Amino acid sequence: MIDIEGTIRFHGHSCPGLATGIRAAEIALREIGPHSADEEIVAIVETDMCGVDAIQYLTGCTFGKGNLIHLDYGKNAFTFIRRSDGKALRIVTQPNAFGPPDLERQALFERVRSGAATEEEQARFSALHGQRVQQVLDAPEETLFEVREVEPRIPARARVIASLACDACGEMAMETRTRRFQGRTLCMPCFEAAENRW
Ligand SMILES: [Zn+2]
Ligand SMILES: [Zn+2]
Repeated sequence: MIDIEGTIRFHGHSCPGLATGIRAAEIALREIGPHSADEEIVAIVETDMCGVDAIQYLTGCTFGKGNLIHLDYGKNAFTFIRRSDGKALRIVTQPNAFGPPDLERQALFERVRSGAATEEEQARFSALHGQRVQQVLDAPEETLFEVREVEPRIPARARVIASLACDACGEMAMETRTRRFQGRTLCMPCFEAAENRW
């Protein structure tokens, strides 16, 4: 059983993006392996939106453990790799996974976001939003996703490297994330600030 309630609690709200992540995680748990206690499974996600929280919570591929890798491609695509035998699946959301765009919901979303929505519009939006979540949870997998076996390519991770103190703020930063600027060693934010002043 997929722990949908727990996933929503972890993410903070229920939304169609989270539902998409739940469905992708469901495939990974079935085809690649159970919740990853250590790093048996590696997930490569090409988005940093809501769905990734479902991936982290349900599959145990997490940012902090290092077996969740984000590629900033802005695609709803999730690859899962089983280290033991190299089986790898890439799960991509179908272009028309959610049917034609729901203009009413989009218009309401804008009004809710800008704070202009009436109580009635709020309620209508919540109802449509809930319907969309349910639609994603109930859809056949092949309607939502294209799933393909792929080469198990895991992007190289930065090894644990020594940290250096920033000459401006004094905070420690990984050596590979520091910059030399006018003879000083700076962390990224201090480097960016110095460069802007320059
Ligand atoms: Zn969300
Ligand atoms: Zn600094």
